[in-house]
Amino acid sequence: MIYAYNLMFQNWLQGEKMEEKDVIIIGAGLAGLTAAYELKKAGRSVQVVEARDRVGGRTMEGKLLDRSFDLGGQWVGPTQTRIMTMIKELDLSTFPQHSDGYQLVEMHGKLSKYKGVIPKLPILALLSADRAIKKINRLAQSLAQEPWNDKRAEALDTITAEHWIQGVPTKIAREMIRIAIRAIFSGESSEISFLYFLNYIQGAGSFELLADVEGAAQQDRILGGAFQIARKMADRIGTENISLSSPVRSIEQSGSEVLVRTHGGEFRGKFCIVALSPNLTTSIHFSPAPLERLSLARRMPMGSVTKAIVAYDAPF
Ligand SMILES: Cc1cc2nc3c(=O)[nH]c(=O)nc-3n(C[C@H](O)[C@H](O)[C@H](O)COP(=O)(O)OP(=O)(O)OC[C@H]3O[C@@H](n4cnc5c(N)ncnc54)[C@H](O)[C@@H]3O)c2cc1C
Repeated sequence: MIYAYNLMFQNWLQGEKMEEKDVIIIGAGLAGLTAAYELKKAGRSVQVVEARDRVGGRTMEGKLLDRSFDLGGQWVGPTQTRIMTMIKELDLSTFPQHSDGYQLVEMHGKLSKYKGVIPKLPILALLSADRAIKKINRLAQSLAQEPWNDKRAEALDTITAEHWIQGVPTKIAREMIRIAIRAIFSGESSEISFLYFLNYIQGAGSFELLADVEGAAQQDRILGGAFQIARKMADRIGTENISLSSPVRSIEQSGSEVLVRTHGGEFRGKFCIVALSPNLTTSIHFSPAPLERLSLARRMPMGSVTKAIVAYDAPF
């Protein structure tokens, strides 16, 4: 998540002194690097400050049998036009995700094997799930572009996705929707605000566009790995403009400039972009503190997901 601070210069800087940049960007994940890359293209000076010793954040290279794999984010789809444009701009290319053959789903301890997108389920459950997904899409499409301005915002934000799912008839249909939510959000339906859920669906176009493969968010992978996007952006931003192993401790704002402090140094800028998961911003000391946002960030847990990669001789 990104938000900007317009912060003022403080002349009692100590420790490592750096030239003042137009924008200091916290986090060298895809969001922070994209911000830095676009600002640099627009002729602004930037400094990216990253806690880890590498760029990429939740995209990361893994190795298996001497080949590179994505340990983090990997799929892109045709409706995600901005990342598709960036892939081309960085001279990368995509290849289709193999999805022929059978799919497996485990529900209530029972494994079922099916072809296509929808598992073989009792007709009533399928109808109920179909009706629920259509309703979710209608609600998402009717949401205001700025969801907090929607007249139903408060009501939708005070319930979770799970609360809404409880109203879906048939146990199997409810479980199907929960499985899809787990796969899409890496979290439980009970952890997600229904307003946030609908806004996410709205951004993607529909529930199906998030969950499916062909024509949807899992259609393509990046040749050589999605982790290359961050590395290529970093090359174009310039390594001198990226400070690794520098966890940010505090951001101080006082008028027209900003002071960002890490354990080992300080960075000054006219603006600051914080490109971290909401929950991680709670470890930074803000002055003045954006109290309402921090209170939201404390209540937005990170998703939890384990990814395992298994290599077979041939697709099956
Ligand atoms: C296993 C997995 C699979 C995924 N699959 C897909 C997929 O197929 N398709 C898809 O679209 N998305 C996928 N995602 C999601 C996608 O990877 C993320 O949404 C995206 O990478 C997030 O980018 P970001 O820049 O917003 O945040 P991050 O990548 O989290 O970047 C934030 C950066 O900030 C740094 N940081 C944190 N605290 C501080 C601090 N105090 N000071 C300085 N730096 C700090 C972090 O080290 C990190 O580098 C997947 C995610 C995971 C984990």
